[in-house]
Amino acid sequence: MTLCMHKWRQTQRSTHLPNAVGVEMTLTIDTNRCQGHGRCCLISPELFDMSDDGVGIVLVPEPGPEYADAAELALDNCPESAITGTARSLS
Ligand code: SF4
Repeated sequence: MTLCMHKWRQTQRSTHLPNAVGVEMTLTIDTNRCQGHGRCCLISPELFDMSDDGVGIVLVPEPGPEYADAAELALDNCPESAITGTARSLS
């Protein structure tokens, strides 16, 4: 089952599931939407950077569970909603 990251995090919180265990996350940036604010790499530099062309890039496209909070924070703070995060259950 694949969920957007926000939906999955809501489910996780409401059911008190362990932090992202058994879940594969995927992060992407829509470069057509990205306006190069750089908020993603300021907020979560372990996951995002800026390209030489001035758009955001994902450093870790399939981050482990330890990055769940950082990924969600970047998604929430992208002013262009250019970042997409999905979470897929491995079970
Ligand atoms: S915060 Fe969003 S719009 Fe700004 S650089 Fe990052 S992905 Fe692009």
